[in-house]
Amino acid sequence: MNSFEDFNINRQLSQAVAGLGFDKPTPIQAEAFPVILSGRDVVGIAQTGTGKTLAYMLPVLQDLKFSKQEKPRVLVLVPTRELVLQVTEQIGRFSEGQNLRVLGVYGGVNINTQKIAAARGTDILVATPGRLYDLALSGSVQLNGISKLVIDEVDVMLDLGFRFQLKNIFELMPERRQNIMFSATMTEEVSALIDDFFTRPVRISIAVSGTPLHNIAQQCCAVPNFNTKVNLLTHLVSDRDEYRKVLVFVSNKKRADRLFEALEKKEIAETGIIHSNKTQSFRINAIRQFDQGNIRVLVTTDVMARGLDLDRITHVINFDTPEFPENYMHRIGRTGRAEQQGNSILFYTARETPAKEAIETLMSISIPVMEFPEGVAVSAELIPEERPRMAEVKQQRRSITVASGPAFHAKKEKNLKTNQGGSYKRELAKKYKKPKSKGDKNYYKHFKKK
Ligand code: AMP
Repeated sequence: MNSFEDFNINRQLSQAVAGLGFDKPTPIQAEAFPVILSGRDVVGIAQTGTGKTLAYMLPVLQDLKFSKQEKPRVLVLVPTRELVLQVTEQIGRFSEGQNLRVLGVYGGVNINTQKIAAARGTDILVATPGRLYDLALSGSVQLNGISKLVIDEVDVMLDLGFRFQLKNIFELMPERRQNIMFSATMTEEVSALIDDFFTRPVRISIAVSGTPLHNIAQQCCAVPNFNTKVNLLTHLVSDRDEYRKVLVFVSNKKRADRLFEALEKKEIAETGIIHSNKTQSFRINAIRQFDQGNIRVLVTTDVMARGLDLDRITHVINFDTPEFPENYMHRIGRTGRAEQQGNSILFYTARETPAKEAIETLMSISIPVMEFPEGVAVSAELIPEERPRMAEVKQQRRSITVASGPAFHAKKEKNLKTNQGGSYKRELAKKYKKPKSKGDKNYYKHFKKK
């Protein structure tokens, strides 16, 4: 689909598009149009600036007929007030001449004005999740007429902690509806949301180039655990002449905090951190300090880093291996800008090895290996997330207690010596277990002993 004419869109829409001066669809628009129009659930991976707003609005508008219904039929959820304003304005331009009503609602302003606006009725509602939920709870907005739901920038939305509100909002909408979601990055949270709420979605994305820039030197290093990763990172960045501006990627906010704390303990001066739990002014300040060179090592997450335009980064350290290979390409693209020499180092544990291999498959190369430097301490101390989970431990215990056959008594004796936890509960359970029959020997033997 190389021209808007191939879309067969209605006259008003094609006039509106022509009026905007767009002569041909962007790649994401060409890919998204037929799929969204087919009515299936869609997950689009695209960054801002690719024309993604029109990519989802064009097929939605093409399908939306004039109606006097007051309840909104299309809901567009976005993470911030700025985006509500931007998207509302864009939809207004795309739908010119179509006689459609668009309303934008967001938090931080008087809710009553929005209640009055909602009471007038709308076809398309653009909203941030928190304010929308408040309006829905007060009965000012009814969501049971929604047939198409668009969630834009879902990675940012989940990173800001909106999952709970999203779930609540989903419950107020008809189950039979089309879900369309756009995200710039694929994260664990996004993936979980898709699994929970989408029905066999079609995934569309503008192919992420698997060819890294030639001026980025890549290396990878096998590291057994978090604390050893900290030791290795500390060792590397102690070379201040070489590591002048370092962006460190971790998989989530919790690990970002944990790493930042660890680096502070190691007294690595000039370390900063940004993620969505930090206030905006904190983040702006950290970015400024990093740009000015007062912060030399900046710890961040995929979602937070993608909007940043940071210059002259000497090293990208993948402290955690990204689970989605595309994110690796985005990460390393932060260094080696403007033809400067860039460097990327990937740390990977045994558990992260499949993810590292997926990255290598995407790039069709093996990342050159960096030997684990001599003199860096290998730590045996595990952080809570690395310790065997309780479920696994319980599973092991269960397999011990259900053992039967000739070895049963011997094992039982042995087991009594291990600390199985919850002994009080087990005592109670033993005491109050009902006899299976009147003369149940197993039951009555507890009393005989006493
Ligand atoms: P978005 O990714 O939706 O934020 O769009 C980025 C910018 O691209 C917006 O300013 C749009 O107006 C513009 N745009 C969207 N579609 C096209 C197109 N087909 N041709 C040229 N510009 C476009």
